[in-house]
Amino acid sequence: MAVHRGPRKSADEKAAEATRHTSIRAHALEATASVDAQSADGAIDVEKIADHLGAEIVFGDLDGAKARVVQIGDRARIIISKKIVGVGAIRFCIAHEIGHLVLKHYAQGDALGRAFKRQRTCSPLTSDGTEIERDACVFATECLMPAPLAGPMCQVAPISFDPVRAIASAFATSLQASAMRFVELTSERCAVVYMQRGRVLWAKKSAGLQAWIPDGRAVAPNSAASDYFDDGHLEASRVLPASTWFPRDTHAKDASVYEHMTAIPEQAAAFSLLWLPTT
Ligand SMILES: [Zn+2]
Repeated sequence: MAVHRGPRKSADEKAAEATRHTSIRAHALEATASVDAQSADGAIDVEKIADHLGAEIVFGDLDGAKARVVQIGDRARIIISKKIVGVGAIRFCIAHEIGHLVLKHYAQGDALGRAFKRQRTCSPLTSDGTEIERDACVFATECLMPAPLAGPMCQVAPISFDPVRAIASAFATSLQASAMRFVELTSERCAVVYMQRGRVLWAKKSAGLQAWIPDGRAVAPNSAASDYFDDGHLEASRVLPASTWFPRDTHAKDASVYEHMTAIPEQAAAFSLLWLPTT
């Protein structure tokens, strides 16, 4: 679920990244197809994929909301922190670690060809700038919510939060991961904005949304997000003047932005799904 917040990339770097991500997504779809891991109810059976890769999944005492993958020869162990809350979050962590195994993120130094032990500790549920971590999140997202299935569910106007709930329910994913996937696949003008302590930490925008959402800006006092930071409400929906979230852009006089806020109390955070209808 990592969102890159490092220095701006050049056009060449962006193109190289897009090519790499396309290949990662193909690997994810292949990993699912090769073991027939799509269960009858739609959710992807990540345990089955792990098993096929010789990876055992255990729950352990890792510091914080973390996950780890340990590889010894051709066997592997995926360790998920007992502190991670929610089936969706646990599944995302498992799929992320599977991504490291499938993408051979240990290939460097493998030239000796002997049994070796390597491990990687990750925080898949927080934003992290390293390329390998982001790649494993791209893998996890495609693995859990494959574009051929999730794509059609995203071609709707999110006038309510229902399209995101439908994705979360179909694929047994968290609401945040589902909202981010919605923004990735929709042709509507949307964004997921993640906030902590009343400020924007990062925003992920759909391809069609050009408006600027600066990191660090304070949550507007009348926004749905303010219901959490001011009053502790866990969920809120609002239709607001577009300028509430996009003050620097020019809008038609009556342009509106739809906002649905979901709190993540265990992170003292909240995220909002924004939708700016095309006028
Ligand atoms: Zn990782």
